[in-house]
Amino acid sequence: MNAFRRFPGVGPKQAERFALYVVRASDSEVENLVEALRAVKSSVSYCPECYNYAESGLCAVCADAERDRSLICVVERPQDLAAIEKAKSFSGVYHVLHGAVSPAAGVSTEQIKFRELVERVTSADGAVKEVIIATNPDTDGEATAMFLTRALKPYVGKISRIACGVPLGGDIDYMDEVTLGHALKGRTKI
Ligand SMILES: [Zn+2]
Repeated sequence: MNAFRRFPGVGPKQAERFALYVVRASDSEVENLVEALRAVKSSVSYCPECYNYAESGLCAVCADAERDRSLICVVERPQDLAAIEKAKSFSGVYHVLHGAVSPAAGVSTEQIKFRELVERVTSADGAVKEVIIATNPDTDGEATAMFLTRALKPYVGKISRIACGVPLGGDIDYMDEVTLGHALKGRTKI
């Protein structure tokens, strides 16, 4: 149970259910689980281009010749990349920071894949036309967006931030004022 408690989002009740499952499972089921854990740990590494998870060499996105390399979308975590990929509305490539700058928690640009992005953009020698910053719309995500903008401005023609605001199917009068303020600021011409 203690081992399962270390998993993200798993509470004591859930850890107990997982532990009981393992107790009741057959030897081969447990063996498969152990094997899967070992395999993921030994075969998954980082894509040398964007730092997404990859099995060997480039990740699936970077290996795809159809993707637009002049457009880089910056995200905090590989899960964010996966979420955007599911939306199927982005044809560029990514850069995964593996975290966000957090002045409160003492996380600086040195502890995330920040310098790697600046180097990637500068070494592309003008080939990167736009960087879309898709960090979370919280304090750390905003701080990260500010640092990125400052560092990349001299090398990229367009730096943009994903829009934050009214969710589809949402109700304006139920929105909090911070979200509404962002939605108004990020309005687009129709
Ligand atoms: Zn990649």
